[in-house]
Amino acid sequence: MNDYTIASSSAGRIRVEDKRIINSNADVNQLVPFKYKWAWEKYISACANHWMPQEVNMSADISLWKNPNGLTEDERLMVKRNLGFFTTADSLAANNIVLGTYRHITNPECRQYLLRQAFEEAIHTHAYQYIVESLGLDEGEIFNMYHEVSSIREKDEFLLPFIDTLTNPDFKTGTPETDRQLLRSLIVFACIMEGLFFYVGFVQILALGRQNKMTGAAEQYQYIMRDESMHLNFGVDVINQIKLENPHLWTSEFREEIRGLMQQGVELEYRYAEDTMPRGVLGMNASMFKEYLRFIANRRCQQIGLDMLYPGASNPFPWMAEIIDLKKEKNFFETRVTEYQTGGALSWD
Ligand code: FE
Repeated sequence: MNDYTIASSSAGRIRVEDKRIINSNADVNQLVPFKYKWAWEKYISACANHWMPQEVNMSADISLWKNPNGLTEDERLMVKRNLGFFTTADSLAANNIVLGTYRHITNPECRQYLLRQAFEEAIHTHAYQYIVESLGLDEGEIFNMYHEVSSIREKDEFLLPFIDTLTNPDFKTGTPETDRQLLRSLIVFACIMEGLFFYVGFVQILALGRQNKMTGAAEQYQYIMRDESMHLNFGVDVINQIKLENPHLWTSEFREEIRGLMQQGVELEYRYAEDTMPRGVLGMNASMFKEYLRFIANRRCQQIGLDMLYPGASNPFPWMAEIIDLKKEKNFFETRVTEYQTGGALSWD
């Protein structure tokens, strides 16, 4: 069956047991009966977390940025290089979902979540653009950093081959080799891109927010991190379900290869940390970031059933865990209630 074909009427009614994450023959247009309730529940939660960038007031950030004594030169460089990665990263993520992953996931409840995720990537790109515009930064400089700043370019160059696999129109799953290619790309995307390459950047802006600086940007990053941690958790569930349904893919050789990629990811992200904070800022230094990245990489390995890469690594930023764990409580910086409030009020003005 094609990835969008309408099942012929002789195919009979859809049966839960025929649903599979990849290589399914079940009709992809019938959402129910559900098989993967976790996918549907994440779709519902993601919608309940809806937010839009322009709802966040940027006036304090703007006056701080315009004040010559508002931020140090090191802090300004950090903010610009931070945006230099993120402004293009979520476009890359969106394209990977829409032009790649979506076609190869043959399950309608997972596709429903992916549609929501794709929109969230658009909101994130919108948020970064909104910050760049609010602060009056040089758009050309920021949006081209992924070409022009080597520590950013290297992260993207690491990702591109895995994205190219999925977006190649000739790529099809269905053999152990191609199924493993898909699984590898899903792991790189969820666990290394969304699960590791975003975290130095999240720490930086949220650390500014904790010092009452750039609070509008920090509030948006808080919502973005909440969305992204769900993207990661959805990716982990998909990966583990594919492993469960196709145990032959998860060989010891393949597992070692994935650990090697994870290690490469840690090194690239560490280089990005050094490059965005050459002298360390906000009481954070390079060795704290090295430890943090090792701690996160261990967690990602555990989430998909791999041995830890850096036994004993601990979290030097415990306050990050507190922010991630704030679900729909009042937001960390106390500027706004994070639960989206307009769902019940329909107005057409
Ligand atoms: Fe994402």
